[in-house]
Amino acid sequence: MKRKQRGEINRLNLCLPAKSVNEGVARAAVAIFCAQHDPSATELADIKCAVSEAVTNCIVHAYPHGEGEIYITVVLYADKTVRVVIKDHGCGISDVARAREPLYTTDAVGERSGMGFTVMENFMDRLVVRSRVGKGTVVAMTKRIGACAAKE
Ligand code: ATP
Ligand code: MG
Repeated sequence: MKRKQRGEINRLNLCLPAKSVNEGVARAAVAIFCAQHDPSATELADIKCAVSEAVTNCIVHAYPHGEGEIYITVVLYADKTVRVVIKDHGCGISDVARAREPLYTTDAVGERSGMGFTVMENFMDRLVVRSRVGKGTVVAMTKRIGACAAKE
């Protein structure tokens, strides 16, 4: 009933082990599912990129020792909004506001640039991050398909 009221028309639930190979799997699965909303190539690329950043964060940061699950939910709404939720039960983030700052990274090796959350924020319309240390992190992103006039 609640889903109907909010205009939900379809939903994908996916659970993947936090392995780097599954970053591409998640990206492709979300893109195929979102194609039902007939996004432009740019909109689809934006969603794929945001998913890629969030899933990579689960693999690299949430489960630094390799073991763990990534839970992905994609919901399509009648108003052509897409909601993507990416959740882990990993180490969590102690200061989410700081983690969301551009160029902030806890990576000591120098491989990361600290731009993942910034990319998600810029490529999607809305980004909500909830996290508890030792419990895990939930990243919820929404995007309205067809919002930009220039469709290729
Ligand atoms: P980049 O994404 O550019 O490779 P990055 O991953 O360090 O670098 P962000 O994605 O913006 O940058 O994340 C910022 C910081 O937030 C990370 O360095 C990490 O400390 C923390 N973080 C992000 N996602 C998670 C997560 N799922 N679990 C635990 N910590 C996280
Ligand atoms: Mg990142």
